[in-house]
Amino acid sequence: MSGQTKTALITGSTSGIGLGIATAFAAQGYSIILNGLGESDEIEAMRVGLAKAHGVKVIYHPANMTKPEEIADMMQQGETQFGGVDVLVNNAGVQFVSPIESFPVEKWDQIIAIDLSSAFHTIRLAIPMMVKRKWGRIINIASAHGLVASPFKSAYVAAKHGLVGLTKTVALEHAQENITCNAICPGYVLTGLVQAQIPDQAKSRGISEDEVIKNVLLAAQPTKQFVTVEQIAAFALYLASESAAQFNGAILSMDGGWTAQ
Ligand code: NAD
Repeated sequence: MSGQTKTALITGSTSGIGLGIATAFAAQGYSIILNGLGESDEIEAMRVGLAKAHGVKVIYHPANMTKPEEIADMMQQGETQFGGVDVLVNNAGVQFVSPIESFPVEKWDQIIAIDLSSAFHTIRLAIPMMVKRKWGRIINIASAHGLVASPFKSAYVAAKHGLVGLTKTVALEHAQENITCNAICPGYVLTGLVQAQIPDQAKSRGISEDEVIKNVLLAAQPTKQFVTVEQIAAFALYLASESAAQFNGAILSMDGGWTAQ
């Protein structure tokens, strides 16, 4: 990486796709701000391991993405510790599967807060830092469910469609200051988030867990393969590069052809 060391903040980076993205940016020499839930000793081992493996500065902020004041504190740390956040990856997300008539109200509120509103808060607070440096990259991890729906995922589909709309709007607001905002829309990736919904899907549909994988999850993906964390991380790195400067407001499917159908 040429010039000054850039800083990447990745929400929900204590596991899955977020951790993969943090690892890829650390390997390219970025300073890293990790965030997410988990056991504090495991997170500390992760933080130290990442810093040592790549010789970069890594800090962790425990902001709960349902809490705007904690998000504000995390963004402030970005300014205090690194002078700003250059690359913001809004990745934190949760899922809940239920028919709408029995969808718990508190689950709806939680999913909208974590999967959509948290990105509003991180972006509104990152933009002034990016404007100051006249450079910034915002990468929102949406989903194929930001483009199409599946039954029993009302809150998740609504939040991810909202995140797609937010992406397009933000892309227009500071386009002349080298600040881009794009969304990656992955198909199914075999992380904890997907593993956890297999039993619920089996229950909602009255089928076995193997049938959920074969006939529900990968049924939509023409390649019949899961997307990998490494593939998404490599794409996020590309979006942060100078070569990707003209990607702005793009809603980028990475789903083995799912949403081409
Ligand atoms: P994951 O469960 O492994 O990771 C989710 C991360 O979010 C974790 O670090 C978790 O600690 C964090 N998180 C959850 N609630 C939080 C909160 N209140 N505050 C702060 N952090 C919180 O799941 P994943 O599959 O890696 O998902 C990452 C993102 O990718 C999500 O936005 C998800 O919707 C999206 N996505 C996943 C898939 C998939 O198939 N796995 C497909 C498309 C999109």
